[in-house]
Amino acid sequence: MEYFSGHIKKLIEELGRLPGVGQKTAQRLAFHIINMPQDRVKALSEAIVSAKENIHECKVCHTLTDKEICPICSDESRNHKIIMVVENSRDLAAYEKTGKFEGVYHVLHGAISPMLGIGPEDIRLKELIERLQHDVDEVIIATNSSLEGETTAMYISKLIKPTGIKVSRIASGVPVGGDIEYIDEVTLLRALEGRTEL
Ligand code: ZN
Repeated sequence: MEYFSGHIKKLIEELGRLPGVGQKTAQRLAFHIINMPQDRVKALSEAIVSAKENIHECKVCHTLTDKEICPICSDESRNHKIIMVVENSRDLAAYEKTGKFEGVYHVLHGAISPMLGIGPEDIRLKELIERLQHDVDEVIIATNSSLEGETTAMYISKLIKPTGIKVSRIASGVPVGGDIEYIDEVTLLRALEGRTEL
């Protein structure tokens, strides 16, 4: 016997595809949405569609933005000669929250993972190397301390070393396997300040 109508089933199914949303949560969200006023539901669905349509990668640092060049890259008061390399836009946001980093970023959109078949060409590494043709003093590698993050850090440092540009790695105040986006600001700041040259 079918408990739910096809429409509800479809909604539960779609919500259940989201990360961290199990079957129970998907059901709870689906019924919540159905009980919401019509205009709220419309606003929610329009926000999803317009975010998807209008957000793309910044031409310079590849973070997600609705501008051609993101606000950080277009900020003249920041130091464009210091580039912090992060795995994703959420990590960038975590570092921005500390309010203490005055350089700019480069978002890789992933990390090298031989196990998952993700190679250097699958992340924004070529784009990083291109940026180094301009005047750059230091590249700070702030990938996660997971196996993938460390592999990526090592790969990047080997790539940059011959150029003579200073390469550093954030300190290991960040717990092993820890996701940067979940780490508190004080720890992040300490990791940044205690970075070591590779
Ligand atoms: Zn940017």
